[in-house]
Amino acid sequence: MTLGALPQTVEVRTLAAREVTLAGVLDPIKLLRFSSAIVAVKQPVVVNADFYRDEEGRYIVSVQVTAEVQVTCQRCLGALERTVASSALLAVVWTDEQAAQLPPRYEPLVAEAEIDFWEVVEDELLLALPSFSYHSNTNCGAETGVQAPGSGDAAVSGSPEKENPFDVLKALKGDVDK
Ligand SMILES: [Zn+2]
Repeated sequence: MTLGALPQTVEVRTLAAREVTLAGVLDPIKLLRFSSAIVAVKQPVVVNADFYRDEEGRYIVSVQVTAEVQVTCQRCLGALERTVASSALLAVVWTDEQAAQLPPRYEPLVAEAEIDFWEVVEDELLLALPSFSYHSNTNCGAETGVQAPGSGDAAVSGSPEKENPFDVLKALKGDVDK
């Protein structure tokens, strides 16, 4: 099945009243906050959203988002593949007071008639993104002594003044070689 592009602006209560399901993909380049939090995204973000009303008449969005991303390993600063996935039950409310009264199973979505649905997706992705990511030991450049491609420059330029203990080792080795 080929998914179409996810619409950006949706009338969230109208969709819930009609019990619409929106499934689509989203180019991560359009999600600036999310793009800047990671190294790269190779695949479009996949989104599935069911809009409906619950027994109490609330307007609900059940949303699932998945993204295949590259993040930075905090140990070796190399790139690391990660799947970021999130699912949430959002209840549409008009005010913060209404948001505070929601049952705990719902996250509030404060909205007028229309919402920027891409922003909702982006918020979910940012929440699901782990704060720290590491390679498993066997793949990590810090463990094997091999830097992942492209990470060397960033590591060096990050601390130009600081003396690198490996440079000392290199110098020692150089002396031995001579
Ligand atoms: Zn690593």
